[in-house]
This record gives sequence, structure tokens and C-alpha cells, in this order.
Amino acid sequence: MDPTQLTIHELHGQLKNHKTTSRALTRLILDRIKSVEPKIHAYTTVTPEAAMAQAEAADQWLQSGRPAHPLTGIPIALKDNLCTQGIRTTCSSKILENFIPPYNATVVRRLNEAGAVFIGKTNMDEFAMGSSTENSAFGLTANPWDVSRIPGGSSGGSAAAVAADACISALGSDTGGSIRQPAAMCGVVGLKPTYGRVSRYGLVAFASSLDQIGPIAKNVTDCALMMNAISGHDSYDSTSAEIPVPDFARALDRNLTGMRIGIPKEYFIDGMDSEVLHAVKEAIRVMEKLGAKTQDVFLPHTEYAIATYYILATAEASSNLARYDGVKYGHRAKPTKDLLEMYMKTRQDGFGPEVKRRIMLGTYALSSGYYDAYYRKAQCVRTLIKSDFDEAFKQVDLIVTPTAPTAAFKIGEKTQDPLQMYLSDIFTISVNIAGIPALSMPCGFTKAGLPIGLQIMGRPFAEETILHAAYAFEQATEWHKRKPNI
Ligand code: GLN
Repeated sequence: MDPTQLTIHELHGQLKNHKTTSRALTRLILDRIKSVEPKIHAYTTVTPEAAMAQAEAADQWLQSGRPAHPLTGIPIALKDNLCTQGIRTTCSSKILENFIPPYNATVVRRLNEAGAVFIGKTNMDEFAMGSSTENSAFGLTANPWDVSRIPGGSSGGSAAAVAADACISALGSDTGGSIRQPAAMCGVVGLKPTYGRVSRYGLVAFASSLDQIGPIAKNVTDCALMMNAISGHDSYDSTSAEIPVPDFARALDRNLTGMRIGIPKEYFIDGMDSEVLHAVKEAIRVMEKLGAKTQDVFLPHTEYAIATYYILATAEASSNLARYDGVKYGHRAKPTKDLLEMYMKTRQDGFGPEVKRRIMLGTYALSSGYYDAYYRKAQCVRTLIKSDFDEAFKQVDLIVTPTAPTAAFKIGEKTQDPLQMYLSDIFTISVNIAGIPALSMPCGFTKAGLPIGLQIMGRPFAEETILHAAYAFEQATEWHKRKPNI
């Protein structure tokens, strides 16, 4: 089999037994990138020299016979909002087009210490604002399953690269669904960890009370291995939790006996695609066959999730993005006659339309006179959404839903209608509002051959339980074995 199609754990076996080298593998991935990039454009930056140097170092380590980390020598892609020392980090924005960070994000440092090989930075919606990767200042990314369709977003580049074998695994970030929704659209596995599980030091902030970094991988085992490498407390991020990190790969088990799974009726709505509905129902049946007990649960405040999110996330974004003023980072407009004009022109040229829309919405929601009506109220509703989950998780271990209401939509289909675009996150957003972990994995295909995503949510810091159920489902099905013909 073509090594680019293999998973982390399969390749680890080959590297450890000297059946292949990281250099050979990295070269194959770079070739693969050359052949698929003209069709999908998953990367903003590819770093062949740096990758080959890391591969060389990994090979030396592997040759030495010292115990190797499962990620040693494995080509990994990083979403372009993760700071990489000496390597351009653009957030797919003109305002950061030439920004070269002086330091590595903690997740990057941890993967580096594990011996991973960084192959490049992946395309995204500008500042992670979007659901289709059409909001990139550097051109859109296409879905490897059908290049006339979007790959999801905002981590669309990472998901498309994994699906197209243009890297072995990737990191994304998820503020309202940006790991899970593109994973669903591209037929791969994506996990948004619990808020606090993974350090965000060096992640360019979008909405700080919601953002999390997580893996996008070819299967559940790889997802667990990536989680092992990136999780855990970090003194550089005061929101990272001092909670012990289990060995996620050991949680993987084929049997679901005794597992209680909740099905929320609020996630099976009108307007949902019938093929998605059918695939998710079938998946629930498979889980029952594996020993899980299913029951109804109620998440009555779900209908307020999108409105709540678009107040909180935009408010936080308006504050976080105030730092891009042409003084400290990236693009500066010139010539300008005074400081105010410099600020204004820099932001006018530097930000794309969606980012400007969010800054305006957020500034409005926070402005005096509207703060109580919008921001404070949204915070109250946030608590209600969180307590819906607390109640549900008293009765069940996991909650299973579709990841998105439809499979990948056409390029351009929703760009003129922001509300329609926002609605494609209807099933993923509550998870960020509540701070809980959730995974998306393939559970079927539409007649047109597009992947369908299943979402599994868990209690705070119960990623192990999610990965256990996901693994059991994966082992009982064949969906993860399909490959796009690209
Ligand atoms: N699509 C959502 C938004 O545009 C979520 C994005 C994300 O998770 N980063 O805000």
C-alpha cells in the first residue's frame, strides 16, 4: 500500500522496524502535496526544507535504537493559526500575511519534542471565522471528495490535507465546530477536546472562552495518539487545566456493554438532510448492537445556541482582534497622514469582509446600552445551555448526534447569505458553549459519494469515553477505509 495512505500507528511500526525511513515518507508526502495541491489548495505554506531536516533528525533517533514516540518521523500539518517559530503564520489573513512568529505554540513544541515532522501550514477561514474555508484571503480549499464543494471550515485545509493523504495527521482549532464540521465534510476523524485540556498558548485567539486546539486524523487511534502528545497543563496558558492526562490510546475498546448513550431530539430537526438522518440512525443501531443502551435526553436550550454563540464569539473577537492595528503585527498601511488614519487604513485593507462583520457585531454587542441586552443575556443563556448538558450527563455517558445537518455544500452556495452559513454549525456550537469534548467521525456516505459525520459528545475531561465508543464504532464499520479519488 502507498505509505501516504497509512496511519500514524501503522507507520510507527514500519519506522521502528526500519522498513521505511522518515525521509522516504516525508518525500512521498511532499510529492503527494505537489500532485493534489493544484486541485484542493489545502496549504498556505509548505516547508519542504525544514521538513526534510526534521525527518533526518527523526531517522537518526530511530536508527539509534532509543525508544521512539509514536509520532517520531510522522509528517504533520498545522492549521495556520498556530504559531510556528520562524515560519509564517497568516491565519489566512492579509493582515498577518508576512507575520513570522518568534516562538512556537505549546502544541507545536510538544509535537516537536515527540519528533514529529512539520510539513506545512494549512488554509483556513480568515481568523477561523467561517464554515467553508471560503473566507481565506489566499483562495479557497476544495473538498477532495468533490472539488466543486467546500471542505468545511474553518479548519478546512487540515481536514482536506488529511483526507487527500497530503499529510498523515493535522491539528485544527475549534471555536464553534471548526474541527468537527470539516472532519465530517472530508470523511476523517476530528476531536475538539474539553476546554482546558490542551494549551492554547500560541494559538491566535478568536474567542478565548470557546477556542480549543485538537487533532484531525485518519482514524480514532491516530486521534488518541495525537491527543496524548498535545494534552496537559501548561504554565503559559492559565486556562489549561491541572488534570492528569490518561493514555488515550489505552481507552480504545471494541465493546460498548453498559455504555449509556443519549439521543437528543433537538438534534434531529426539520430541514436536516434525509441521507444524514438515515446514516446517523444506522450508526446508533450499530452502537446498540455493540452493547450500548440508548435513551432520549433533552437539551431544551439548543435553539438559542447559535444566537448565543454569535454574540459571545463576536464580542470576544472584537476585543481579541483590536491588537491588529499596524503597530505591532503584520500589515501596516502607508503612507498615511496620522496615527488614526494608519489604524483605519491598516484594518480596512488587512481584514476581509467576514472578519469586519464580526468585529462590528461584537463591538455593538459590547457597547454601553446594549451590553445588558446582548452580552449579559447571552452569558445567562450560556449557563442554561451548560446546565442542559450537566442534567443529560447525569443519565448518560455520551450523547450522539449528527455533526452537521448536510454533507459538504457547493462552493459559493452560502457565501451570499451569512445566516445560512452560520446555520451549518447548528449541531457543533453548543459543545463549545458548554466547554465539553466532542468528536466527529465518518458514519456513511450520501448517494453522491459525500461523507457524513457522526458526532459523539462526552462529559468534561471524558475524552477517553468518547474515544472508546468511537473506536468500537469504527472497528464495527468500514466507513473510515474509503478514500477520495483525487
Ligand atoms: N463556523 C463558526 C464560526 O464561523 C465556527 C468557527 C470555528 O470553530 N472557528 O464562528
